[in-house]
Amino acid sequence: MAARPQPYLEGLNPAQREAVEQLEGPVLMLAGAGTGKTRALTARIAHLLMTGTARPNEILAVTFTNKAAREMKNRVGQMLGQPAEGMPWLGTFHAICVKLLRRHAELVGLKSNFSILDTDDQLRLLKQLVVAANIDEKRWPARQLASIIDGWKNRALTPEKVPAADAGAYNHRGAELYAQYQSRLKELNATDFGDLLLHMVTIFQTHADVLEQYQRWFRYILVDEYQDTNVAQYMWLRLLAGGHKNICCVGDDDQSIYGWRGAEVGNILRFEKDFSGAHVVRLEQNYRSTPHILAAASGVIAGNEGRLGKTLFTDLTEGEKVRLIGHWDGEEEARWIGEEIEAAQKGTRGRAPHGLDKMAILVRASHQMRAFEDRFLTIGLPYRVIGGPRFYERMEIRDAMAYFRVVVSPDDDLAFERIVNTPKRGLGDKAQQTIQRMARSNGISLVEGARLCVQTKSIGGKGGIELGKLIDGIDRWGRMLGDTDPSYMELAEIILDESGYTAHWQNDKTPEAPGRLENLKELVKALEGFENLQGFLEHVSLIMDNETDDGGEKVSIMTLHAAKGLEFPMVFLPGWEDGLFPSQRSMDESGIKGLEEERRLAYVGITRAEEVCTISFAANRRVFGQWQSSMPSRFIDELPQEHVEVLTPPGLYGGGYGAAGMQPLRSDLAERAAEANVYNSPGWRRLQERSQQRPVSQPREAKNTVIDMNAVSSFTVGERVFHQKFGYGAIQGIEGDKLEIAFEKAGTKKVVAKFVTGCDD
Ligand code: ATP
Ligand code: MG
Repeated sequence: MAARPQPYLEGLNPAQREAVEQLEGPVLMLAGAGTGKTRALTARIAHLLMTGTARPNEILAVTFTNKAAREMKNRVGQMLGQPAEGMPWLGTFHAICVKLLRRHAELVGLKSNFSILDTDDQLRLLKQLVVAANIDEKRWPARQLASIIDGWKNRALTPEKVPAADAGAYNHRGAELYAQYQSRLKELNATDFGDLLLHMVTIFQTHADVLEQYQRWFRYILVDEYQDTNVAQYMWLRLLAGGHKNICCVGDDDQSIYGWRGAEVGNILRFEKDFSGAHVVRLEQNYRSTPHILAAASGVIAGNEGRLGKTLFTDLTEGEKVRLIGHWDGEEEARWIGEEIEAAQKGTRGRAPHGLDKMAILVRASHQMRAFEDRFLTIGLPYRVIGGPRFYERMEIRDAMAYFRVVVSPDDDLAFERIVNTPKRGLGDKAQQTIQRMARSNGISLVEGARLCVQTKSIGGKGGIELGKLIDGIDRWGRMLGDTDPSYMELAEIILDESGYTAHWQNDKTPEAPGRLENLKELVKALEGFENLQGFLEHVSLIMDNETDDGGEKVSIMTLHAAKGLEFPMVFLPGWEDGLFPSQRSMDESGIKGLEEERRLAYVGITRAEEVCTISFAANRRVFGQWQSSMPSRFIDELPQEHVEVLTPPGLYGGGYGAAGMQPLRSDLAERAAEANVYNSPGWRRLQERSQQRPVSQPREAKNTVIDMNAVSSFTVGERVFHQKFGYGAIQGIEGDKLEIAFEKAGTKKVVAKFVTGCDD
């Protein structure tokens, strides 16, 4: 075999080579970010194949995401110089377990065509059981039960195995409801995600013949991101590797970020015990990031206790320091990052031009994404959201847009079909067919068909009445389209309110509902800056159209969790604010352990960057409809100053916190970054002025206080203001949330206060 060329070995350093060539017996590769673990693991697969040690179907390789699996397959192909022949068992734990479970479903009482419930379905099912068990769902939310059950499944505990220590779970009914839930799933011939592994572990534990078959079959096992395996995954691996022990795991304890989902970093530490004689390889050279970036990441992670600890070095040239900037609010942060990206494309600031594919924005929470999506849509910057639908593809946004489309063009049958029974108006399939027939036989649009149905009473009962209301609404909103008052942004809100669509989500009790309402508000905000509703609809449809077919270069937006294992030349890390990152929830729920996990997440974020890493924070952020003001993240304090450059946008420096009479921030770094931008912005000054007039929580002292922005931005008679549609004017009168304004160009009008902003002159 040695006669065959092995180019994939050539670029590797000695430690990597050792991990690649040691094919027999257990191997643990334990090393920091960017040291070439994944690359070595990939080379190991190539080596197994190239030396004829294993056939493709004898290799079981587990990656953390489907994307990582695809990439690994491609890379193996490149290493071999030919497309990797089918590697049927290269995938995520879930993907591999689904395939296995389909073959052996009957052993756990399922049919091979079982369906897999998503979290929505899972919750619905649990709710039914909770209600049937006479449990007050308000006190004991089904969601809580769902997460308890997930926790048990992550620990490979079937209902019979739930330990006595957990007997008190969910008001002492947890284990009982878990058992009911499992039997209900069986009746439905369904599993949830957690079951995929749980069932396979059960099968391996109870059917020695099946286990032996796969132990023989999977002769070589490889696992990437081993630090994030949970107990069930760990047991599954240990069972499979139990015979030959040809298992190679790679991981980094500093990148364990799924503790909240039951991952046990202890699995790494146990590896040497469970697989005696394990060959442990440590890698220390980082090939990804420049020295400043690496040093900044190392500085932050040094704050964690109980690390295995490792040294990392790089041979790369020095490069830029990690950049830090503070912003007034989340929107300004998005605007600035948009500009930075456009500049980077052109290659200004002494850097070579970077394609959009080379840039990524990594957020802590997915609600942060919207500000970027909105901004990028406005400036026409192509982007992709990894690990979730893009803003305009979300269900509630499509629904709302369909309403707007029907109002703007009542002939839009597709849009009408979408909204006619959303929210539910008692217009089922039969009623809808009646409308269709009426429209077709008269050669008219569905809206007109529906009108005729109402007039001729072809649809009776509640459905008929509701349909009548809908048609009236469409007529009324259509007439408002041409008016200047209300503005089209207000009109959009009116449509969503009067149609009952907003209320539909307000009454919805699923965990997603608040997010959907927030998205709807965000949609109305996105209308700003367009000539009218139609202009906006055209804009979005053009964008959506562009999206479908092109594989062009795009900026990536994703969560820090989804960024694991990836790398980009330019990385933006926005939203470094206490409460957002580290997240309040993780600290509240898991205390110091939670904080340490957040810190590992910071380490993961920074180490994704190859050349340029930019961290930012905003003094104010709108979270689920409420303004919050926050302190810069404590992780900013932990950045080693000598590796950080504080950015000062031109023309903004000066003023400073002193003028605002505030206490200095914790660290000099955060202070400088905030001073450079935030405290000097008009919005900050306005907030300061107003806060002297009324008791407003001091944003920088109290962390994450919710500020009622209406109170803060309330107006005074005589004040000069700006309205996005009517331009500048002076306030004549105030009546609740309505302002009477004498506009300089548009005359005197009554408008809703939230569409009005103060002026700084
Ligand atoms: P993470 O912990 O973030 O998953 P990793 O340890 O898996 O990182 P890789 O993604 O495998 O690291 O490698 C990081 C980068 O370094 C990649 O671009 C890879 O191609 C490159 N690299 C790895 N090993 C070498 C090497 N021996 N010589 C040159 N470049 C290398
Ligand atoms: Mg990796």
